[in-house]
Amino acid sequence: MNIILFGPPGSGKGTQSTLLVKTLGMRQVSTGDLFREAIKNKTSVGLRAKQYMDLGNLVPDSIVLEMVEENLKGAPSNFILDGFPRNLEQANSLDLLLKKIGIGIDKVIFLEVDKKDLIKRLVGRRVCSQCGSVYHVVTKPCSIDKVCDSCGGAVIQRADDSEEVVLSRLDVYEQYTSPLRGYYKSLGKYNEVNGNRNPTDVFEDIKKLM
Ligand code: AMP
Repeated sequence: MNIILFGPPGSGKGTQSTLLVKTLGMRQVSTGDLFREAIKNKTSVGLRAKQYMDLGNLVPDSIVLEMVEENLKGAPSNFILDGFPRNLEQANSLDLLLKKIGIGIDKVIFLEVDKKDLIKRLVGRRVCSQCGSVYHVVTKPCSIDKVCDSCGGAVIQRADDSEEVVLSRLDVYEQYTSPLRGYYKSLGKYNEVNGNRNPTDVFEDIKKLM
């Protein structure tokens, strides 16, 4: 099954994708992770994307599409699109791309989370700079301060998880990404899951849709 997992920043897309990868062997295509990797490796895509990401803005569609196309070539199946598409233009381009490579999206799963909780989740979020494990200063702290429990790597705050950038990312989401709900409803592919719960309960509901 090929799915789009979408929702506001901090709604748990990354966490749920990781669970889908582990339990159902799906492949996660996260545009945010791909950009962070590109920035780490100082590639030209990374350098171009960084200036937009630092401010919480969307990276221009041409750059995003180039990267997604690169990752979807070879007609893969059983994948999760996480963080893409993020506006209607990207959704239209995705439709064309999938048609070209002869595959389709089976379901779109929207994770619904209250705005005040999103802010708390994002501002308190910390991530391992080595393996990407996710922590939270209040709800899931590391056993040793700033050291990853899984791999011993340095646990840091993402530059775009500062309160100022978080607020701007949520505005960008409302303006550009939220209209995709209507788009996918009109295609009959839309499913909504209550993301205001612990990850295990959210995952149980997602599994029922698979
Ligand atoms: P994420 O990890 O999904 O929260 O993405 C982090 C940042 O990467 C976003 O705030 C954007 O700047 C950029 N980004 C990720 N995916 C996209 C996309 N599909 N379109 C434009 N920008 C994106």
